[in-house]
Amino acid sequence: MRFDVISIFPDLFPGPLGDGIIARASDKGLLDLQVHDLRAYADPPHNQVDDEPFGGGGGMVLKPEPLFAAVDDVRTQAQAAGFDPGPVVLLSPQGKRFDQERARALAGQAQVTLICGRYEGVDERVRLHLVDFELSIGDYVLTGGELPAMVIIEAITRLQPEALGDAEATQHDSFSELLLDFPQYTRPADYRGMSVPEVLRSGNHPAIAQWRRQQALLATATKRPDLLEARGLSDEERALLAEASNA
Ligand code: SAM
Repeated sequence: MRFDVISIFPDLFPGPLGDGIIARASDKGLLDLQVHDLRAYADPPHNQVDDEPFGGGGGMVLKPEPLFAAVDDVRTQAQAAGFDPGPVVLLSPQGKRFDQERARALAGQAQVTLICGRYEGVDERVRLHLVDFELSIGDYVLTGGELPAMVIIEAITRLQPEALGDAEATQHDSFSELLLDFPQYTRPADYRGMSVPEVLRSGNHPAIAQWRRQQALLATATKRPDLLEARGLSDEERALLAEASNA
């Protein structure tokens, strides 16, 4: 999968994407990250990418011309490299909330273009006529779209088949099936009197699977009841949850 990121701070990349699982995904050819300097698409000699807002007020706004030129060019480049150009996404605190479901939907694309805003944001014509949709990583305001772009790239890349060593590793992740992940334990079996639940050491795999499902339900009901409300419960899950809550 290819990501084309348009930013006025391209040197911030790859940042955390240059390490660990995501770097390995890159090495395996699962991730092709192309970062484009917006200033390269602005007119010389000053290569100005921002200007004052019409109507006054503080701050600067990213100009439309370099962004339109950059998007045209990166999509052409992506196509020339054999990638079917996918959605053009503007990072914005006003966008739809990026979550695991959106990550999964975008993971099916061959290519995604991400536009990182700065300052007061981008000229509204970009939102109206250039991008397919806006994405937000949460209800708070950051200084630029670069960190949100990295978050989105990371979340989508780890969903690519073969990105993780263990093929099952994302299967039980939190938010799969709208449930949080079950609790995990590792050695030692007993630490300062705190012991690992007996069932996990029993070798009884159906019992372990049942315990994990029950604990995932309990964690979700306790920490994120909103998820369960949206999802609903089967009769069997309701019984499992009641049993765990009474334990
Ligand atoms: N004035 C804008 C507003 O209130 O909607 C905020 C602009 S913000 C300081 C600059 C840029 O950071 C935005 O254009 C966007 O690209 C990025 N950004 C900030 N917070 C974000 C968030 N929660 N999710 C995605 N992008 C964000």
